Amino acid sequence: MKIHEYQAKEILARYGLKTPKGYVTDNPEEAKTIYEKIGTKTVVVKAQIHAGGRGKGGGVKLAHSAEETYDIARKILGMQLVTPQTGPEGKKVLKILIEEGMPILKEYYASITLDRRLAKPILMVSEAGGMDIEEVAKHSPDKILTEVIEPCLGLQRWQANRLAWALKLPSELIKDAVALFMGLWRVYHEEDCSLVEINPLVTTQDGRLLPLDAKITFDDNALFRHNDHLAMRDVTEEDPLEVEASKYKLNYVRLNGNVGCMVNGAGLAMATMDIIKHAGAFPANFLDVGGGANVETVTNGFRIILSDPNVKGIFVNIFGGIVRCDRIAGGIIQAAKNVSIKVPLVVRLAGTNAEEARQMLLKSGISLEVAENLREGAQKIVKLIQK
Ligand code: GDP
Ligand code: MN
Repeated sequence: MKIHEYQAKEILARYGLKTPKGYVTDNPEEAKTIYEKIGTKTVVVKAQIHAGGRGKGGGVKLAHSAEETYDIARKILGMQLVTPQTGPEGKKVLKILIEEGMPILKEYYASITLDRRLAKPILMVSEAGGMDIEEVAKHSPDKILTEVIEPCLGLQRWQANRLAWALKLPSELIKDAVALFMGLWRVYHEEDCSLVEINPLVTTQDGRLLPLDAKITFDDNALFRHNDHLAMRDVTEEDPLEVEASKYKLNYVRLNGNVGCMVNGAGLAMATMDIIKHAGAFPANFLDVGGGANVETVTNGFRIILSDPNVKGIFVNIFGGIVRCDRIAGGIIQAAKNVSIKVPLVVRLAGTNAEEARQMLLKSGISLEVAENLREGAQKIVKLIQK
């Protein structure tokens, strides 16, 4: 689960880390008051959306008076902000964070995330922080320094120390950097994060070291341990269909293609998406209906898939292992009656009682094609949508 920058900074502050003084608002009038309250000549107005690259998209602007803060707040609030991470449709800005403007000396990068290959968290830092860190990672990975964190020991002070010195920070700021890195680890560990990222981490002309930006992603599998995290969820930032699907406990991820997929099991869902691509089309979604594919889950699945206007056909690929295929077929027939399906439908059922299921589907009177195997199913649906 992603959260906003201002929420991430609230968490850092709770762990005793210094953050720039700032306030969040959705109102340009209030932005003026905030300017006065902050009390520095320069403030920075920052769009709060769940995507990075805001600076590049015009979502981070400096203001030097209450009036200018008001003008910029009016411009940013309500804008459809397009950044390299939002996709071409952008994201609507509903909140802004206004902070004291920092006289930046240099921008650094620091983050803790899970290295899936090592199966351990890593602390990563770079002296080439700021808006082009993705380019740095791609073209000069040697500029990114890492320490592998032993999960049972946690980040060690010597590791934080090594990276603080490696950043060639002014020596009087080493202590602050070490405290910051140790704090980031505590946040990552205690809040069950999958990412804690500070980009940029800055040194200022008045000799401070501060996180100018903060991004935190929580591990969804640990959400049950943190009631306060759910209160930070902002569903306006999520795909409405994904939010709808999560109400029915369906694992649905919207994608850009036009073949809707309904599958049981995440592995089979991935394989189905691959084979659709192999057959020459693109999946419109990932959808794992789970082990108990029944009338209700299949009905909800069809409804959600069909709410996506890009969907030109549906491929149902279900393996009857725990549930028998004839029961699933009954569910599909009933669900197809519940939700009128006006696009081509191909169904492939494999497993226990697959033949009975096939006969049921063929006799159901519902317009659909059955397939024996994955390849045939994918080829059929791709052909049907190309008609
Ligand atoms: P992002 O583009 O979404 O990652 O947003 P950031 O919060 O990282 O801001 C982007 C850039 O705006 C930073 O890399 C800074 O260069 C600049 N910026 C942000 N806050 C300030 C500030 O207080 N003072 C100055 N001078 N620049 C800032
Ligand atoms: Mn940033």
